[in-house]
Amino acid sequence: MAKRVLVSGGAGYIGSHVTVELINAGYEVVVADNMSNCDMTCFEGVKKITGRDDIPFFEIDCCDYEAVEKLFAENSIDAVIHFAAYKAVGESVAQPIKYYRNNLVSFLNILEVAKAKGGCNVLFSSSATVYGEAENLPVTEQTPRLPATSPYGNTKQMCEDILRDSVAAYDGVKGIALRYFNPIGAHPSALIGELPRGVPNNLVPFITQTAIGKRKQLSVFGNDYDTHDGTGVRDYIHVVDLAKGHVAAVKYATATLGCDVFNLGTGTGYSVLDMVKAFETANNIPVPYEIAPRRPGDIDECYADPTRAYEILGWKAEYGIEDMCRDANNWQSKNPNGFEA
Ligand code: UDP
Repeated sequence: MAKRVLVSGGAGYIGSHVTVELINAGYEVVVADNMSNCDMTCFEGVKKITGRDDIPFFEIDCCDYEAVEKLFAENSIDAVIHFAAYKAVGESVAQPIKYYRNNLVSFLNILEVAKAKGGCNVLFSSSATVYGEAENLPVTEQTPRLPATSPYGNTKQMCEDILRDSVAAYDGVKGIALRYFNPIGAHPSALIGELPRGVPNNLVPFITQTAIGKRKQLSVFGNDYDTHDGTGVRDYIHVVDLAKGHVAAVKYATATLGCDVFNLGTGTGYSVLDMVKAFETANNIPVPYEIAPRRPGDIDECYADPTRAYEILGWKAEYGIEDMCRDANNWQSKNPNGFEA
C-alpha cells in the first residue's frame, strides 16, 4: 500500500476533501499548494476534521521543477494526486497561454520527478469535459473523447495523453486519470468546502449565494435544451463521495500496473430546475430564478456510467441530491464571504 501521498493543490476545494478521506483511510498525506486560488481556510478545516495538527504543508508552485524535486526527495512520496491546475473555462478562452503553461508544466514536472525517482503512482484530476457532447449517454470510459472546446478542456485531454505515454515509456510510473462529473456540496462538518472567487461560474455555488441573499436571483441558462424540462442536465456528485473515489483509486494504483481511466459520477442526471427544487426542499429556502439565454459552449446533458469504478475500484457514490444541497448550504451559510483575495 502506498504510504505517503502527495496532494498537489491540496488546500483547494476537492484536494482538501481528498486529504481528509486519505487520512481517514490511514494514509500519510503531504499537501502542496501555491495558494493561487484559495486561502488557508480549507487546510485549517482539514486539520480540525482529522484532529491532525501535523499534516506537512508546502507552499510551492508545481511549475517550479526544483521545488517539486526537493519535495519528493525530502518526503519519500509513494503516490501523487495532482489537482494543482487552473479551472475556469471562460478565463482559459481569454488567457490560453496562462492555462497551457500552468496546467501542462506543473503536470510535466510531477511526471518528470516521478520518472527520475524510478517510479510513482500518479493520479490525475481529469474531467467529464473530455467527452464533450457525447452521442450516447451515459458516457463510459470507452466513449470517444471529442475535440476540446476550451483551452481548459484541452489541458485535461493533453494531460491524460501525457500520462498515458509516460506510463508506457517509464518503468515504475503508473497512472490513473479520474474523470469527474459535477462535484458539489461540502464536508458535512461545514469546515471545508468551495470558496469561489468573485461571481461563481458553476451552478450550485450560484444557488447557495442566491439562497443567502448575496445574489438577487439565479439565471437559468436556457430552457430549450433537449432534456425533460428544457434545462441542462448534469451528473452532480457529493464532493465527499468523489474524495472517497480517490482513496479507492490510490489503493488500486499501487496494486496494478499501467495506466487506467475511471469515471467518478453517480450515474444520475439532474436538470438545473431539478437542482433548484432539490435545494429548496433540502433547505426550506426559496431560490429565485429567471430564465436567461443559453451560455455559449454548454451542452444539453451529460451523465456517467460509473459501473467500471464500482467493478474495479469497489467504489460508488452514496450521497443523494438533497444531501449535496444541504451540505452546500451549510458550508455557504458558515462562509458567506468566500475567497475574495
Ligand atoms: N447553469 C445555470 N446558471 C448558472 C450556472 C450554471 O443555469 O449560473 C447551468 C449550466 O448551463 C449547466 C448546469 O447549470 O446546464 C451546470 O453548469 P456548471 O457550470 O455548474 O457545470 P458544467 O457546465 O461545467 O457542467
